[in-house]
Amino acid sequence: MMKQDTFLEEHILGGLFGQALGDAFAMPAYLRPQDTREYYGGWIEEFHPGPPGHPAHDGLKAGQITDDTEQAMALAQSIIEEGGISVEGAAKAIVRWYDFIDGDSNPYVGPSTRRACQALKQGADPHTTGTHGDTDGGAMRISPVGLINPGQVENAIKDAVIACTPTHFTQVAVSGAAAVAAAVAAALVPRSSLDSVIEAGVYGGEQGAEHGTVWLGASIPRRIELAVEIARRDQPVYDRIVTLFELVGSTLATSETVPSAFGILALANGDPALCARYSAAISGDADTVGAIACAIAGAWKGVGEIPQDWIATLEAVNDRYDFRSTAAGLLKLAKERST
Ligand SMILES: [Mg+2]
Repeated sequence: MMKQDTFLEEHILGGLFGQALGDAFAMPAYLRPQDTREYYGGWIEEFHPGPPGHPAHDGLKAGQITDDTEQAMALAQSIIEEGGISVEGAAKAIVRWYDFIDGDSNPYVGPSTRRACQALKQGADPHTTGTHGDTDGGAMRISPVGLINPGQVENAIKDAVIACTPTHFTQVAVSGAAAVAAAVAAALVPRSSLDSVIEAGVYGGEQGAEHGTVWLGASIPRRIELAVEIARRDQPVYDRIVTLFELVGSTLATSETVPSAFGILALANGDPALCARYSAAISGDADTVGAIACAIAGAWKGVGEIPQDWIATLEAVNDRYDFRSTAAGLLKLAKERST
């Protein structure tokens, strides 16, 4: 029992710091791999500030998280306060975040979240505000839903559907979020293989696509498989990252970012530090690719596999957020739910 507790503690904390690491590390990337490589003279190997002229991240500090992790922390807070996930709780969490960052005049709110938050603030029913949300915001903040469901893939998928309802309730967006939640849940099984984590992601993607408004879009589970196949080709690592960028993509589209994040996870063999480096290199919506890939990797490997000085930087720069007490709250809930 003791041993299982320690395992969960280290791996839930790993998932939460992983989310923050991938987000902050890839935040300074440019829009295309070639531009990122040229500006930084190779790989991004440490935290950098948001580069001048970047459409969303100009002015951010080195090590600063973005909307992905801010929203994941808001969702985690609501989950802890309510002892679980509800449509109303998820809606309240996202509106609270939106007001906190002054969403109406802040450029980095995504299109689906902005539309939903504006409707929610006017009193709309949260069951109706997400029916057109097809971008990657549902997936980028979903990791806490996986973290409270260790080894419980079906429950993680169910909770992901609920969490997506107020902002991202289309088949493609739910599919992407369920893929990530399922993979994080599977990553919290002691001695699980990386393949089993990826398979859980594929399964979550398939199940998630059964929910939400009927929406056209490429299949997330099939594209996860494509991304993993590209990641395992016999080519130099950087070339495989460029191929992921070109064939799978890293725009705000859920059917691009989520599969690419699984590709990066496979390419890095589940190592959170390598996931961060490779996510920055893929560029585009790199911080979202990084947040997703590193949340899964951190949950799988545990906090001990994230360099300590990076964790210290994340805590110092983002001192509005208490990652450790949030992880402790998620751990408590995870334990209650699994007994
Ligand atoms: Mg972001």
